[in-house]
Amino acid sequence: MGFDDLARWDGEELVIRHDRTTDAWIYIAIHSTHRGPAVGGTRIRRYPDLDDAAQDALRLSSGMTAKNALADMPIGGAKAVLAVREIPGGPERTGLLTRYGSLVDSLDGQFITGPDMGTTEDDMNVIGEVTDNVFCRSIGRGGAGTASPGTAAGMLHAIRASLAHRFGSGDLRGRSILVQGLGEVGGRLVELLHDAGADLMVTDVDAARVADVVRRHDDIRAVDSAHALETACDLFSPCAIGSVLSKETIGRLRCQVVCGAANNQLAEPEDGERLRAADILYAPDYAANAGGIIYGLGLERFHWDADQVNARLAGIADTLTRIFVEAERDGVATNLVADRMAAESLLRPSELVLAAR
Ligand code: NAD
Repeated sequence: MGFDDLARWDGEELVIRHDRTTDAWIYIAIHSTHRGPAVGGTRIRRYPDLDDAAQDALRLSSGMTAKNALADMPIGGAKAVLAVREIPGGPERTGLLTRYGSLVDSLDGQFITGPDMGTTEDDMNVIGEVTDNVFCRSIGRGGAGTASPGTAAGMLHAIRASLAHRFGSGDLRGRSILVQGLGEVGGRLVELLHDAGADLMVTDVDAARVADVVRRHDDIRAVDSAHALETACDLFSPCAIGSVLSKETIGRLRCQVVCGAANNQLAEPEDGERLRAADILYAPDYAANAGGIIYGLGLERFHWDADQVNARLAGIADTLTRIFVEAERDGVATNLVADRMAAESLLRPSELVLAAR
């Protein structure tokens, strides 16, 4: 990534630090502080090269600005990437996270971070030893714990709203739903959908995870991950990886609705229009998966009780319904309406006030 690439980025600040002890590179991309401190997760990953790592931080940070604005949070967007040679463990990991935490602290509250791919609440505890600007520490340390229960609960609202728009009812009983990815979010979502009476199918590249679900619920069917996209269902819920919806894959889909938690489901923005042309209702990912940030920050930094958190999570359904209605009215793709609404929201001040930790 050269200076030309950086010049094209519309964010505010990119902090780069080389951690000599571990030879890790740290990128903190602060995309926007317009609505408040920039909030975004910290991911630890091995990247093919440092260009990829920096690009990941820049790209994901702008998505966080849109997600946080659309969820009407008084915060901006950011993302941090710790690009490592090997995934560190033990004292090496603690050392890296402690030095990273000091870097976060030096940003004077401009950046607040939480868990993301490759990091956990235990990692947030380590970072929380040196800075207050972290959330989703473990419950024992006064944090909200992992954000994924919030993401899964928000996804249930998102799925109901999507079904209601397409089929006239958000009732899950008898609706065929395929969940792709049975990790932190997908695994929890499957249980919620099952409790609500959905006719479930599950798929994961990790056979043990599929076997575990199917063993516990004999009415849930396993689908080979190679054939997931072609599986007929009312709703397909991608909860694994990004770029699942592309020029190559959209023609293969046999669902009427896509609503999942995975980030960056569209390989390119034009895929939103491809889905619309295929008469598939697409719930924009960052609108549907905002539950984690609502839950984590809501408990820790807005000091909401469970009812207030639940009311905010239910708001995801209202946001999505507005997106669907506007998209239909204007004859445009839902992802474009979500982007438009996020941009409008960015210009409005939020009524919420972020408290200190
Ligand atoms: P996770 O790593 O816990 O689980 C991902 C699961 O997907 C794993 O079981 C993995 O084996 C499976 N998987 C990977 N590739 C697959 C493939 N090609 N086909 C089928 N299964 C595959 O991750 P998570 O925390 O559950 O997050 C899932 C997605 O949701 C990610 O895209 C993440 O960025 C997004 N997301 C998560 C949260 C959260 O609160 N955890 C919040 C917002 C968005």
